[in-house]
Amino acid sequence: MTTLSSPAVSAIQNGTVIDHIDAGYGLKIVQLLKIATHKKQVTIGLNLPSNKLDLKDIIKIEGRELSPEEANQVAILAPDATINIINNFEVNNKFKVTLPNTIEAVIPCPNPRCISNHDKIPSSLKVLRRIRKNIRLQCHYCRELFTQQEIR
Ligand SMILES: [Zn+2]
Repeated sequence: MTTLSSPAVSAIQNGTVIDHIDAGYGLKIVQLLKIATHKKQVTIGLNLPSNKLDLKDIIKIEGRELSPEEANQVAILAPDATINIINNFEVNNKFKVTLPNTIEAVIPCPNPRCISNHDKIPSSLKVLRRIRKNIRLQCHYCRELFTQQEIR
C-alpha cells in the first residue's frame, strides 16, 4: 500500500479520490455522477497544479467507493483521470479510467431535437474514438456526432 504524496488528496479516511481530471471538468463530473445528492462529504479542488497536465481538478468523496461503471462515466469527461480507493487513509486500489464502447442513460444527447430528449427514451451514445483529449461520440437515435465538450 502506498500513501498519496500530494497534500491535496491526503485528507479522506475511506472513500474515493478522482485525480488528474482535466481542469474544467470537475464540476461536470460531480453533476454527472450525482455525487452531491448522496449526502456524503465531498471535497472538490479546481485548477490545482499538476505534473501530468497544466492544471487539474480533483474530487474526494468520503464514505463511498465508485463502481467500475461509474469510473467509466468519468472517462467520458476526463479520459486521463485516476481513481484511488482509500481505506483508512491509505490507497487500497488505484486504476486509470477506461472508455466504454457505449454510454447508456447517463448523458443526454446534446441535440435538442433528438427523440431521446423528448420521448423519455434512455440516451445511448456510442464512443467512436479518442484523439488526444477529444472523444468523438455518436447518438444512437439521431446519429449526430459530437465531442465531450458539448455535453451539458
Ligand atoms: Zn440524439
